[in-house]
Amino acid sequence: MPTPERPPRARPRAGAKAGAILDIDLDAIASNWTLLHERVTPAARCAAVVKADAYGLGISEVAPALARAGCKTFFVATLDEGLELRALLPRAQIAVLDGLVMGAPADFAKGGLMPVLNDLGQVSAWQTYAARRGKLPAMLQIDTGMRRLGLSPKELRALARDPSPLDGFNLAMILSHLACASEPAHPMNLEQLELFRAALRALPRAPASLSASSGIFLGSDFCHDLVRPGAAIYGVNPLPGRPNPMKQVLHLKAKILQVRDVDRGESVGYGAAQHMERAGRIATLAMGYADGWLRSSSHRGTARIGGKPAPVIGRISMDLITIDVTGIDPAAVQPGTYADLLDERYGVDDAAHAADTIGYEVLTALGRRCVRVYRRGNR
Ligand SMILES: *Cc1c(COP(=O)(O)O)cnc(C)c1O
Repeated sequence: MPTPERPPRARPRAGAKAGAILDIDLDAIASNWTLLHERVTPAARCAAVVKADAYGLGISEVAPALARAGCKTFFVATLDEGLELRALLPRAQIAVLDGLVMGAPADFAKGGLMPVLNDLGQVSAWQTYAARRGKLPAMLQIDTGMRRLGLSPKELRALARDPSPLDGFNLAMILSHLACASEPAHPMNLEQLELFRAALRALPRAPASLSASSGIFLGSDFCHDLVRPGAAIYGVNPLPGRPNPMKQVLHLKAKILQVRDVDRGESVGYGAAQHMERAGRIATLAMGYADGWLRSSSHRGTARIGGKPAPVIGRISMDLITIDVTGIDPAAVQPGTYADLLDERYGVDDAAHAADTIGYEVLTALGRRCVRVYRRGNR
């Protein structure tokens, strides 16, 4: 009697049908936040920046993990991100960096969100609204050299002369942002610190916040009452050129779709832009720039199979990457198995280097199509 076909009993592994799987270690994220928190405490508190869907890693998993680790203050960029986060964390303090231009004061107040007020028009709009509703909190950003968002020096002088626009609401934080914090010796760091201190002296007393990930490592002078790390929490090195104190958070693997022999001198990929220097084997992976693997890392960077390097060859396509697997045991390179693109040995900063960019861009580009799998507890 033929055995009837039975469905497999085990639940398929999450992402089993995916071309690429982005494995996100929530414990590593929490422990990175804790490391920064312990570095600045008790003098300062540690917030978490979770803008851009927690730097592409998924705010709905990442933010609650950070809250469980003890984080109470969160920064997002947009009003929509703030509202999404509010639904996840009913009690957290949430500030919206892009400011009041993103929506009406009522939109912020209804979501229990603090706008970061970036000019005097926003200050007066919040004051007008808050005057009718009690002491609603907001943050105030001062531009000390980024020249991106925040009160200009002229506006700051006006507010210092007459701080009455700040009356009637709760000034929860005065903040500014460093332009060169990842270069500790850059003179701009101390210049901005001095300008920030002068602003704090000129304005009514309020808690202060200057540093993001890299600024924390410039020393306690830069930490004030609150630090606002993002990238370091997600494993990006806050100290470029020096050993990374943060834990690696990501493991990215892409499925091998096909393996082929290629002769010496044959070209690989679009534009026939790269040729085999010797006869060898190519594996094609189910990951491309549409998944966030940056096209600028074409011909560069490397995957790994069983820990053995398999360099990228040819251009990255939308859905596919070709890697040179010539030296690797053919038994380990089979369609349906996986090649590693990010792991403990090759992190987002390495991928960024190969793509001529920074870890931030690698992170935020990832995960558009690759399946995210979250780990907690021991792997
Ligand atoms: C994005 C951002 C941060 C976080 O910066 P990281 O370098 O990722 O730590 C902090 N503050 C402001 C104003 C930001 O825009």
